[in-house]
Amino acid sequence: MPPPTDKRDRKPHKKVCNFCAEKVHLIDYKEVSRLRRFVSERGKVLPRRVTGTCARHQRRLAVALKRARHVALLPYTADQR
Ligand SMILES: [Zn+2]
Repeated sequence: MPPPTDKRDRKPHKKVCNFCAEKVHLIDYKEVSRLRRFVSERGKVLPRRVTGTCARHQRRLAVALKRARHVALLPYTADQR
């Protein structure tokens, strides 16, 4: 088990899946501006616990991200410098 986190400064803000909130059923891989929010600075897919995305949409998001990467709309990883 990981060490318990300090809850004092945590807001108990309930996360709502961004896609459910906007009633998005098909996540368009061409909507890079939207997808970017679910990818870390290094190009990794952010986990659900960070973004609050529901399981269904996280799955579709992952597929969309892979397509976006495939057509070079998003990087696989951050540039190595
Ligand atoms: Zn959802």
